[in-house]
Amino acid sequence: MLKFVSTPQRMPDKRAAAARRGDWDEIYREFSAERAAEQASRCSQCGVPFCQVHCPLGNNIPDWLKLTAEGRLEEAYEVAASTNTFPEICGRICPQDRLCEGNCVIEKGFESVTIGAVEKYITDTAWERGWITPPTPLRELPHSVGIIGAGPAGMAAAEQLRRKGYAVHIYDRYDRAGGLMIYGIPNFKLEKPVVLRRWEQYRAAGITFHLNCAVGEDVSLQELRARHDAVLIATGVYKARDIGGPGAGLAGIVPALDYLTASNRKGLGDAVPAFDDGRLNAAGKRVIVIGGGDTAMDCVRTAVRQGAVSVQCLYRRDRANMPGSMREVKHAEEEGVEFVWLSAPEAFVGDRHVAGVRAVRMHLGLPDATGRQQVEPITGSSFTLEADLVIKALGFDPEDLPRMFNAPELALTRWGTLKIDHRTMMTSLPGVFAAGDIVRGASLVVWAIRDGRDAATEIHRYVQATASRPLAVAAE
Ligand SMILES: Cc1cc2nc3c(=O)[nH]c(=O)nc-3n(C[C@H](O)[C@H](O)[C@H](O)COP(=O)(O)OP(=O)(O)OC[C@H]3O[C@@H](n4cnc5c(N)ncnc54)[C@H](O)[C@@H]3O)c2cc1C
Repeated sequence: MLKFVSTPQRMPDKRAAAARRGDWDEIYREFSAERAAEQASRCSQCGVPFCQVHCPLGNNIPDWLKLTAEGRLEEAYEVAASTNTFPEICGRICPQDRLCEGNCVIEKGFESVTIGAVEKYITDTAWERGWITPPTPLRELPHSVGIIGAGPAGMAAAEQLRRKGYAVHIYDRYDRAGGLMIYGIPNFKLEKPVVLRRWEQYRAAGITFHLNCAVGEDVSLQELRARHDAVLIATGVYKARDIGGPGAGLAGIVPALDYLTASNRKGLGDAVPAFDDGRLNAAGKRVIVIGGGDTAMDCVRTAVRQGAVSVQCLYRRDRANMPGSMREVKHAEEEGVEFVWLSAPEAFVGDRHVAGVRAVRMHLGLPDATGRQQVEPITGSSFTLEADLVIKALGFDPEDLPRMFNAPELALTRWGTLKIDHRTMMTSLPGVFAAGDIVRGASLVVWAIRDGRDAATEIHRYVQATASRPLAVAAE
């Protein structure tokens, strides 16, 4: 260990931008065994591991780095998997530059350990060698849990509960499991077989998936409460923030998630008429994406791969103040995306179909109460960019769940997310828990996993305390 003094940081080889633009494959190649061990050995094994402290899952990173450096990969995987349900997914899509790697103590002057790449290597190896098996329980319990939403929060909870012996039923309005990991995040960041093989394992473990089943339409929350000993709501946040102004209703202005879902479905081999007829397809178009978060980055890079003539990203703040990961911005720039910083749309121009965006230059003013600098338009600085397709990536809010579920007693926070007791993760309805984005607002996969695992612990505690047949008896 401690090789950071003599061994430079090296990420897995990154494919050339020209090649990346032409396909949907992930952009990094796999580490070789030697390179993974070498890079893991750069860890300084510091007394207070800030990487672990800043990981939402509290991953025991120094330990699995040391095991990797020693070539003890199966043990490394066991340690990584003991706190994380999907280490191969976090290794691929966590913003490590803001979390573990950004807090690595050797970061300053020596560049951090490539934690995410090693995590991905360990877990991909575990899959290849058959070390990952379905989470079947040692014994069955007579209780069942209903989970609404098959995203990372719902799936992480499902795995934990199934391991304990519960009959687990997941209800999802989509036709595939995975939530935003399957239909939101593009293949070049997270290849779909990586998500689908987890789903396969859960089915093999006896978890029942009720797909194409929208709770609130096909089945009511009340029915699920009657059917199961506890219910977990893990429905994510899907109401796209919109933009008004003159021309906002023109054809050719589309929400980001519609666009990304169409692209992901196409990649999975589905029939997608709105893609085929060009409405949700950037091929041959001048594309403008509005927004500066990870969703905007996914849209610009998807448009490049679909064969857009040009792709511009319009963001009202500057590079240093954008919410998206800096790594993603760099990848996008390498792939030919142009960033138009400090610019916000004023109006959309065009007859029936959008032909351009009129934007105004912004400058950053004084910080507000949250400490974030406010943006202010610069008078007389308007300019127009031509566009055939405009994608709105302005973030997401929660849907109105009390209305959707016909459950007015389901309490909300002032942001419209579900209000829970943070010690028990229970909503205002007894026996109904909540986890993931629907509690936090739009967040990260790693936080959804954390919430799902915590919710499983609390559900187990609740069922044990309240179910008519005590678990200790049932387990005999
Ligand atoms: C484009 C995009 C890119 C992202 N990139 C990253 C990234 O790179 N890294 C990262 O860490 N995070 C990323 N995120 C955020 C991350 O995907 C989410 O934080 C995470 O998926 C939230 O998990 P969840 O389980 O709470 O919800 P979701 O993943 O949204 O899953 C919710 C599930 O609930 C289902 N559902 C909703 N309502 C109902 C209903 N009424 N009945 C039945 N089922 C229902 C949905 O169909 C869905 O399957 C990205 C998000 C987006 C939109």
